[in-house]
Amino acid sequence: MSHLELDRIDLAFGDNVVVRQLSLHLAKGRIGCLLGPSGCGKTTVLRCIAGFERLASGHIRLDGEIVSTPAHSVPPERRRIGMVFQDYALFPHLSVADNIAFGLRGETPTERRRRVEELLALVGLGSQGGKFPHEMSGGQQQRIALARALAPRPSLLLLDEPFSNLDVELRERLSYEVRDIIKSTDTTAILVTHDQHEAFAVADEIGLMHEGRIQQWDTPYNLYHRPANRFVADFIGQGAFVRGRVLDDQRVQVELGVLNSSTPLVCGENCAACAHGSEVDVLLRPDDIVHDDTSPLVAEVAHKAFRGADILYTLRLGSGARVLSLVPSHHNHAVGEHIGIRLDVDHVVTFPDGDTGRSFSTPKP
Ligand code: ATP
Repeated sequence: MSHLELDRIDLAFGDNVVVRQLSLHLAKGRIGCLLGPSGCGKTTVLRCIAGFERLASGHIRLDGEIVSTPAHSVPPERRRIGMVFQDYALFPHLSVADNIAFGLRGETPTERRRRVEELLALVGLGSQGGKFPHEMSGGQQQRIALARALAPRPSLLLLDEPFSNLDVELRERLSYEVRDIIKSTDTTAILVTHDQHEAFAVADEIGLMHEGRIQQWDTPYNLYHRPANRFVADFIGQGAFVRGRVLDDQRVQVELGVLNSSTPLVCGENCAACAHGSEVDVLLRPDDIVHDDTSPLVAEVAHKAFRGADILYTLRLGSGARVLSLVPSHHNHAVGEHIGIRLDVDHVVTFPDGDTGRSFSTPKP
């Protein structure tokens, strides 16, 4: 049974409907993520789960109990939900230990002390309980906020853009640490972020949102390799669409040759327009195009973006269409050079014929 279930919820602010027929299920101990561009409704869904917003329709069930319907709402303080915010929201006048102990009620002083010590150790701040928040770094403050939220053993943990005040390097490191901490406590959690790298680092399952709806609820792997529609394909990762023709269940002819899919073709929009013989757009990711000096297939370097370990090349094909290729950076080629490439596509994703030759998330030539 799901630990958290949202069933066709709607929410509007006046005439502005910001959450539309949204459903999701999360099993105990799983970390879910609501990912999407600014204004798509992520935080509003989180606020509905926390009990701060009244639903217009649908219901929310937490740990077997219906907590929200349009007619009834269990107050936030009775939902056993822990929250972590982007600004940490620590109490400046309380020590680190007292911040963590804040939500602990009903325990004896000895039990409280033991629980605080346990959490300080869990978040790697074992000896720092006597310090005050202003004496700690941003990353440490966020770990204290996490410890404080976990202290009362919440039924569900909600994290709203918890890393956005941190610099990029720390953000990445902390996101892996936070995942490990949450997993070690077997807490069910929902993260909200607009950053797909954070979502990939932390979540088991991700719901990509657009205009109040979940476009695809899936694993990070499937969002990248099996996008359900063009919005998902565009938002997640980088890539390009090239024109192709479906030959049979597992093969598509494109300008670069025949793509053999290891599984039956995935039509991103699940329609008949991608049937045999039809013209389609094929999604090619930068890792689908492999640089190979010995290959007879060549493409012209239109643009290059140096990224340290790799170079992301934008390559111009004979037809003028562009594709991306991620290449180890010791293969350093100049713009205008022709380089050998081969295809290494595992799952072939097609969409009904549309605006092809387009690449997204691409550096401008
Ligand atoms: P961001 O990443 O920028 O925080 P988001 O995806 O979390 O965006 P929400 O904050 O949920 O988006 O907002 C969704 C929409 O609802 C926006 O159009 C926003 O202006 C509107 N909205 C949010 N809260 C309110 C409110 N209290 N009253 C009126 N409109 C609101």
